Amino acid sequence: MKPFAFGRPGDVAEAVRTVAAEPAAVYLAGGTNLVDHLKLGVARPDLVVDVRTLTSREISDLPDGGLRLGAGSTNSEVAADRRVRERYPVLAQALLAGATGQLRNMATTGGNPLQRTRCVYFSDVTTPCNKREPGSGCSAVGGYTRYHSVLGVPAALPDADAPETCIASHPSDMAVALAALDAQVQVLGPSGVRTISFPDLHRLPSDDPARDTVLAHGELITAIDLPALPAGTRSAYRKVRDRASYAFALVSVAAVVTGDGPERTVRLGFGGVAHKPWRATRAEELLHGRPLDEHAVRAAMDAELAAAQPQVGIDGGNGFKIPLLTRTVVATLRDLTPRDLTPEATS
Ligand SMILES: Cc1cc2nc3c(=O)[nH]c(=O)nc-3n(C[C@H](O)[C@H](O)[C@H](O)COP(=O)(O)OP(=O)(O)OC[C@H]3O[C@@H](n4cnc5c(N)ncnc54)[C@H](O)[C@@H]3O)c2cc1C
Ligand code: SF4
Repeated sequence: MKPFAFGRPGDVAEAVRTVAAEPAAVYLAGGTNLVDHLKLGVARPDLVVDVRTLTSREISDLPDGGLRLGAGSTNSEVAADRRVRERYPVLAQALLAGATGQLRNMATTGGNPLQRTRCVYFSDVTTPCNKREPGSGCSAVGGYTRYHSVLGVPAALPDADAPETCIASHPSDMAVALAALDAQVQVLGPSGVRTISFPDLHRLPSDDPARDTVLAHGELITAIDLPALPAGTRSAYRKVRDRASYAFALVSVAAVVTGDGPERTVRLGFGGVAHKPWRATRAEELLHGRPLDEHAVRAAMDAELAAAQPQVGIDGGNGFKIPLLTRTVVATLRDLTPRDLTPEATS
């Protein structure tokens, strides 16, 4: 492990000033992702600034009926909160589908959405990886792609040697639920505070795969706000993985259904299929105000996945994700709107 200095500032403002002033400084929260990367040599900072006990651990009611999750609240605390379980079951379910009890006791609201990809080449410093070492190439092209993206990737087989290539997927379960909920991220940076809509927090690789989010260096997440939801809103998270626990999503679906009849809105977040938590805006548009029968849901998913691009790989590739994702959306919406998706309704 590369040696680094360790800082424990007095408050969040000092933490932001300290990190902003040192280009090779990083924040440390629960450490369940960062410490692994320090040990593996994937992260090589000169300074690690501990914010674990500086950011708020509170989960508090907002005046408009929403809920504020302090960045220091743990995944266990959020998942166990009665208001979260009753009003935002999609978030409680997503959190409980992630990692293990011990990890969730350490992992935080600020750190979870900022965890890095689980692409095996990203954590293997002996292999080329544009995300870890910009310009070195992408070892995943034609390699192990089971956990990689099918959405937001180039239509043709990506060029392994191009500096912009990255087909990694984002691993957080919590982030998929937060994207579907249209959560708001509260940020403190060197030039003040700002709010980022959660679906805009993460980015596609574009020409800079090393950057996972739109956060500038030194910006600190201080809280994540969950918006008030209309009465009768139903939500759920469904995760498909290689084994029942302790595994990242092959695909996952967060669904939030509000209202009925022509007023019905459906919000869908997908995990395991793109470089960012994917908001299925095309499918949402097609399902607006419609009965959620299987035919309508499959047609909406066909439109959403029209540009999906499976990856070829030595492990058989990841084309299986495309039909699997549609089946997972159908199953999730069936649980939330059983009357729409009964066999009688679909015949
Ligand atoms: C074995 C194992 C299995 C796992 N399984 C799953 C799973 O199934 N699903 C899942 O979603 N996750 C899973 N995880 C990942 C785990 O959820 C994350 O490691 C954890 O949520 C990260 O939170 P943390 O507070 O520990 O972040 P840290 O490790 O402390 O930090 C992560 C990143 O966020 C940055 N950061 C932290 N806090 C802030 C802040 N407030 N503002 C700005 N930047 C910040 C850090 O600089 C770092 O880059 C697993 C992890 C392990 C080790
Ligand atoms: S997919 Fe992204 S993270 Fe994985 S090797 Fe390629 S550039 Fe690196």
